[in-house]
Amino acid sequence: MRFPPSATASLLLSLLSPSAAFSSTRRSLALARHATFRHQFAPSSVCASQSSIAFSNQCTKRELLALPLSLRGGTSSSSALMSTATTEEAMVAPREIFRKDYKPLPYKVSNVELSFDIRDGKTVVESLLTVVPGEGDGGKFLCQLFFTAYMSNVHSLVKSDLILDGEAAALNLLSIQLNGKDFTDYKIAGDELVIPASALGDGISKITTKVEIEPEKNTQLSGLYKSGATYCTQCEAMGFRRITFYPDRPDNMAVFDRVRIEADKASCPVLLGNGNKIEEGETEDGRHYAVWQDPFPKPSYLFCTVAGNLESISSSYTTRPSGRKVHLELFSERENISKLGHAMEALKKSMKWDEDEFGLEYDLDIYNIVAANDVNMAAMENKGLNLFNSAWILADPKISNDADYEQVSELLYAIRNVKDEISHSWLIQIESVIGHEYFHNWTGNRVTCRDWFQVCLTLKEGLTVYRDQEFSGDMMNSHAVKRIEDVKSLRGPQFAEDSGPLSHPIRPESYISMDNFYTSTVYSKGAEVIRMYRTILGKEGFRKGMDLYFERHDGSAVTCDDFLSAMADANKVDLTQFARWYSTNGTPTVTVDESRYDADTKTFYLTLSQKSNSDEPLHIPIAVGLLDRNSGKEVLPTTVLDLKEMRQTFEFSEIDGDVLPSILRGFSAPVKLVGSSEDEEQDLAFLASHDTDDFNRWEAVQKLYTNAIFQSLRGEDTSRTMNYIYEAFERSLKLDTDDFSIQAYAMTLPTRSTLEGQMDVADPVGLRHAGKEVMMSIARRFNDQIRDKYTQLTSDMEGKDFAVDAQSIGQRRLRNLMLNYLCCVDETEEEREIASKLAYDQFEASYGMNDKQNALLNLIMMTGEEEKVISRRESAIQIFYDDAKGDQLVINKWFQLQAQEVTLDRVKALSEHEDFSLENPNRCRSLIGAFSANNIHYHAEDGSGYQFLGEMVAKVDKLNPQLSSRLAGGLIKKWSRFPEKQGSLMKAELEKLARIDPISPDLFETVSRGLK
Ligand SMILES: [Zn+2]
Repeated sequence: MRFPPSATASLLLSLLSPSAAFSSTRRSLALARHATFRHQFAPSSVCASQSSIAFSNQCTKRELLALPLSLRGGTSSSSALMSTATTEEAMVAPREIFRKDYKPLPYKVSNVELSFDIRDGKTVVESLLTVVPGEGDGGKFLCQLFFTAYMSNVHSLVKSDLILDGEAAALNLLSIQLNGKDFTDYKIAGDELVIPASALGDGISKITTKVEIEPEKNTQLSGLYKSGATYCTQCEAMGFRRITFYPDRPDNMAVFDRVRIEADKASCPVLLGNGNKIEEGETEDGRHYAVWQDPFPKPSYLFCTVAGNLESISSSYTTRPSGRKVHLELFSERENISKLGHAMEALKKSMKWDEDEFGLEYDLDIYNIVAANDVNMAAMENKGLNLFNSAWILADPKISNDADYEQVSELLYAIRNVKDEISHSWLIQIESVIGHEYFHNWTGNRVTCRDWFQVCLTLKEGLTVYRDQEFSGDMMNSHAVKRIEDVKSLRGPQFAEDSGPLSHPIRPESYISMDNFYTSTVYSKGAEVIRMYRTILGKEGFRKGMDLYFERHDGSAVTCDDFLSAMADANKVDLTQFARWYSTNGTPTVTVDESRYDADTKTFYLTLSQKSNSDEPLHIPIAVGLLDRNSGKEVLPTTVLDLKEMRQTFEFSEIDGDVLPSILRGFSAPVKLVGSSEDEEQDLAFLASHDTDDFNRWEAVQKLYTNAIFQSLRGEDTSRTMNYIYEAFERSLKLDTDDFSIQAYAMTLPTRSTLEGQMDVADPVGLRHAGKEVMMSIARRFNDQIRDKYTQLTSDMEGKDFAVDAQSIGQRRLRNLMLNYLCCVDETEEEREIASKLAYDQFEASYGMNDKQNALLNLIMMTGEEEKVISRRESAIQIFYDDAKGDQLVINKWFQLQAQEVTLDRVKALSEHEDFSLENPNRCRSLIGAFSANNIHYHAEDGSGYQFLGEMVAKVDKLNPQLSSRLAGGLIKKWSRFPEKQGSLMKAELEKLARIDPISPDLFETVSRGLK
């Protein structure tokens, strides 16, 4: 799943203590959520939650307290948990789930038959589960255990009951049958249905349940819900329990033999499921049905069904080496059908790429993708039936941009829930997400995760993100550009997350809520760890490891340790030390302690030391090259050093003449590199000019920009640094190259979030002014050359068809960057006249969305109240809206472009606009999420911006807890990093949110964590 790693990170219990402020409502909500994981992670010999005690009627609180203390618990986590069972307040506190407490299931569902009878306002779901004994004794109820132990003084364990998850608020149970007969000896408590072990015996059982659900009222968009006129599902992570009763955890892999969907034929002509369609037909009263079968066992989070009035485009792909002809079909609402072609091509490219690179072939006869408007995440990899947020799949030059401009792309992070300031083509980004979901078919679906702790790294997101990054690099034909973009996305939100209260290892040891678990660390740093395997083992070694991983684990639910073992065994290397990356949070620092050339021995010495949250050293691959200080020539090409000690010296012999090392080439490890150069800026300027590594050349210039911006922010003299910058900028501007993207990136200032990550106390307003000052100095100095470049690019592009190739995207990127430089000079009336005319001319003449959007943003950002400037701005805003003609994606952009810059009053007015809706996640993020990226007005000194965000989050929470929890990130991530006055205003809004009643568990947990 491509899910936002934005505002909410995993919520680790150690940071969420029981609070006296818990109201009873909050307690029950919190319990309802965390209790759902009870049986998967029940610690042996202790109770998982008070709710199980209450409903089981086998052990009351008083009875529990009457037990001898020795039976109430042991040490460590057990004692912590047991202590929660001794007072009323503690007993209802949210419970931490520990990885080490994983328990296999006592019973497993091996086969499933489902039937959906979809009718307006009422859908009946009938499920037939084949239940077989599992490997584990499961999570035993404390009361059962203690009663057994206490009464009989025998420590043997009773057989566990079968627990099926089912969200009480979503399911209305109509009937249950066991082995074909009506069954009444079950219990329902909270979100669980319990079938006693005594009723099941040791053999195979068949359990039939019939429930009624109401997708039309499901605003959480989890489970079966209605997006516009289309019924669709989202089951990761815990949506399936909102559809039917089931062991809703990833290690229960079952074959869905038969999924029958019946609906009205006129309103829902298309009926889709996972796998292959095996039957279809018509029934009475204009209704029809389809039956789908998925031969591959899968966890419930990969289940999907869709029913709606959709149109489609289709094609086929023949796999190699099997020669299976796969029918490919992409569905959307009729008005969007013409925008699916780009995704279809991307899908075929993905299928071929996975065969070429990893020998992985598609395994079903059908691959369907559905685009829907109301989706919480970007896309979901359901087996054979991907579901996409339409913003991530519909492509058209008129609506899709290249997301060049840093402000815009930074904003896209908030709006689209992308990784960060992804500054390359949005069209390529769509390709990347299509690839991501397709690649999950092997890394996630065929080999899945044993439990949600494993989701983070190998299984499945980190590995799949790494794969989609490589795919995009190949498709763009520029791994350097892709690497720069990926590192920007890592260093923005991930580094910030890892240095704040939300920091956690890529495989956390504990959590509370899975829905809050899709973090930047999970995605971006997880992918970096996979990349380090590749760097250490080499391309062939990595492929050997992947082959062994699939050979060993196809069709299973496994762990990160299994992935590491496959990599180590296939290459016959010891990766024990490397495993520390899995359990170490925070960003490690690598310091260059010594960089010395000894002319007598012709030896160059490089001493590096490392510091991290691990007591023992990490295994860090450091890619290094050496450049001759006189000639600038490379005397040692890229070599990977294995930094495995806390402090380690590397020797390079037979070096003729002093050299300057280019360290951490290609950003070979997710660390902060600290130099020890005598004259750092001079060395940076040298690397900016001579380094053969594209990434490090870019990096050197970024560091110079960063120095200048911070000097300006502190009111210091910037002249020396600016001279180095001018030198590098001029060289880039004059470069005669086809790689326009690399050229543009060399002249692009660091993103705001990257800079913020380097500040102890946040100052977004000051940062914006300092950044503008540096940009304006460059623009004034090179005004003529920049204008010439802009004019030249404009004429080069004239008359050419819009194309989505690396060169065309690069041209647009560079031209828009030139426009940004020209427009940032707006201090006098004359300058504003020139700038606004230039931006307006581009706006009017633009064909693609990228040019149009960037021109509009420049107009919106322009200062000055001259009539002409205002009229150009307002006219462009109106034209943009009119041109959209109601297109949802363009209207989203219209909201977001304004919300990130305009005043709060104007944002409030937009929230009253007829096109605004709190129920659509994309629209909500376009206005509310974008406003929290508004440097000036969101951070107004009177706190009015924070107050607005808080109020909107409270409203959204009533509709969609996943969304409210994420939108609250605008307050949570930041307050502790602000000066006291601003920080306390933000915190006050969080405290208000904590008091709303009722509050969703998602928001409650996020806010509680954020207040720490
Ligand atoms: Zn994914």
